[in-house]
Amino acid sequence: MHETVTALRTIREQWGELLLAIETPPADVWPPRQLAHTMRAVGDEQLDVVDRAPLVLREHPAPLNVDALDTGIAVERAVFALADTLAAAVQHAEHGDPRRWEFQNPGATGARSAAGSRAHGLHFACVWVEGRVRDEDTEPEQQLDGTLGAPPFAPLPPHLLHEARRTARGAEGRLLRTLGLDRRSTPIPDRPCPHCDGELTLHTAPGESPRVTCSGGEECGAPVPLDEQGRRVWQWADLLVLAFALSNAATVEGAPHTAA
Ligand SMILES: [Zn+2]
Repeated sequence: MHETVTALRTIREQWGELLLAIETPPADVWPPRQLAHTMRAVGDEQLDVVDRAPLVLREHPAPLNVDALDTGIAVERAVFALADTLAAAVQHAEHGDPRRWEFQNPGATGARSAAGSRAHGLHFACVWVEGRVRDEDTEPEQQLDGTLGAPPFAPLPPHLLHEARRTARGAEGRLLRTLGLDRRSTPIPDRPCPHCDGELTLHTAPGESPRVTCSGGEECGAPVPLDEQGRRVWQWADLLVLAFALSNAATVEGAPHTAA
């Protein structure tokens, strides 16, 4: 259950990032996504305003990053379909209960009505699935007339817990890969170390701040510590300084560096 809940929360947290990515040309290795936000901190309000309308109900006349759009639509489809499956198996909530997952209804008037609960977007769907995985609202509830009514939901059987975990982890993995936030080490092209001309490598991992290492070893005079492998390492707090050093180097040379 824990892994499923974590994956669903990661999807919710990174969804605004993905929506931004769709409207942005595919990113270079450098600067890393997290740092790019810091460097243009003024424009970050838009990150807080995650439009709730699902991608499937929007028009995308000219997405700048088709890969990000494909991922977004695939993640939505997977989570919506999972909610359909879980609702079909364990939902007893009456119509009108806001906890109820409404299925698509192609016969309804208007795209939003036809979309059912999908119209509330991915964020809602993730929260709804999390509630089922956590067995929320599975106790009998007191009715207006004082009698006990049936619980809105039954607990998920093991095979559906397994299905929820598989789907949520799969969607999370694809989202993180598309955003370049999965665990990976990537050489930074055309930008050698400003202190020793060594090759710089960007290291990212889910839930961790990115860091950069230099191939120059102890000989490198960069004013940052050595890691356990004897490489100069720029942790998050030092990355902004490195970013400005690299952008200055690029400006002074007037052309990209080539790694020595
Ligand atoms: Zn170096």
